[in-house]
Amino acid sequence: MNVLLIGSGGREHALAWRLAQSPRLGKLYAAPGNPGIAAHAELVALDPADHRDVINFCHRNSIGLVVIGPEAPLVDGLADNIRTMGIPVFGPNKAAAQLEGSKGFTKDLCARAKIPTAGYARVTSRDGALAALGDFGLPVVVKADGLAAGKGVTVATTRDEAEAAIADLFAVRGAEAVIEEFLEGEEASLFVLTDGDAILPFGSAQDHKRVGDGDTGPNTGGMGAYSPARVLTPELEQRAIDEIILPTVAAMKAAGMPFSGVLYAGLMLTAQGPKLIEYNARFGDPECQVLMMRLDEDLLGLLLATAEGRLAGHAPARFSADTALTVVMAAKGYPGTPETGGAIAGIEAAEATGTRVFQAGTRRDGDTLVAAGGRVLAVTAIGPDVASAQAAAYRGVDSIDFPTGFCRRDIGWREITRIG
Ligand code: ATP
Repeated sequence: MNVLLIGSGGREHALAWRLAQSPRLGKLYAAPGNPGIAAHAELVALDPADHRDVINFCHRNSIGLVVIGPEAPLVDGLADNIRTMGIPVFGPNKAAAQLEGSKGFTKDLCARAKIPTAGYARVTSRDGALAALGDFGLPVVVKADGLAAGKGVTVATTRDEAEAAIADLFAVRGAEAVIEEFLEGEEASLFVLTDGDAILPFGSAQDHKRVGDGDTGPNTGGMGAYSPARVLTPELEQRAIDEIILPTVAAMKAAGMPFSGVLYAGLMLTAQGPKLIEYNARFGDPECQVLMMRLDEDLLGLLLATAEGRLAGHAPARFSADTALTVVMAAKGYPGTPETGGAIAGIEAAEATGTRVFQAGTRRDGDTLVAAGGRVLAVTAIGPDVASAQAAAYRGVDSIDFPTGFCRRDIGWREITRIG
């Protein structure tokens, strides 16, 4: 079977790596891909925003499955248009992708389905937001309604900070926001494949959003991750599935917008149990890299079963019991303006140490690989426990010569602290 993978990040490199190992794969295409993905797929210069062009490509190349990596094409309805043409696609339709695309939509769904989440108010004006603040204590959370690449959220510890965030947000015309109760606890991510009806648990992870060691500095798209997140015990995972995931899947189906793809729940493990912070409608980046490192079966078969609505009665997905850990190497300046164009060498040396180096913001400049974005590489290792996976990942990092890059040196610290 021929497969088209949409995307160009480290997440898509990890997916391409696993898809390429499938005995069922004919040819793998990636649009637009990156130099790392090019080792596994033929890169095609398709614009995912041009749905007609993507569909024509699928017809010309007998594509049997389209895998959509990032959120933007999902929220833009690419999956709808491909599905309408009878081509299986891994990723939700536009209406279902609102679970990620609109925080207000998700909060209203949680309220209807009695899903544990933070108390909230949806607001459409600055005055409305300021009035709603009175209903919450401090800290309080102020969120832009739509996609903001992790930058639309302020956890305000003072009223002044909350008011400033609200002023910023409503400086944009037509803005909508959610004001939320602050949840106390540790965060963990839970992944579930669903065909709109049945679900298949797909592992857990914990990411590191802040740019600096010790979780300091501004938020980023993610500076590292590890899987599994053992803080999400089997009991807590089952509660999250029963109290959060299954009611969501049922409510989406009942609302006529079944969610098909990977549902990624950002959870807060509170004293009262797991509560939903947010949903994403796709794999996390870099969480996908660690999940793919642990996956012990054919990815293509799983994605196709999801796309074709065949998850009912499916055997559980098989993962290695080992821990995988990934360290993101970013270009200096990230998450502000990254310094691009810096040369990168030593990927082969890093891989010779047993790590896998997934590429994100890279491009070829003649024979040299150079940085072309904020997050550049995800150096990923697997080991019997988190400490050995961490040590192996940093051995890989230290083999890479990327003078204009940087990384955190403490990925996995919570888990390592916990187990002593
Ligand atoms: P991303 O897509 O990068 O995960 P996002 O913009 O979709 O982020 P959220 O995940 O909703 O936004 O929030 C970002 C972060 O803010 C969370 O990971 C969490 O650390 C913090 N946060 C959000 N909501 C709450 C809350 N109610 N209580 C405490 N912390 C919160």
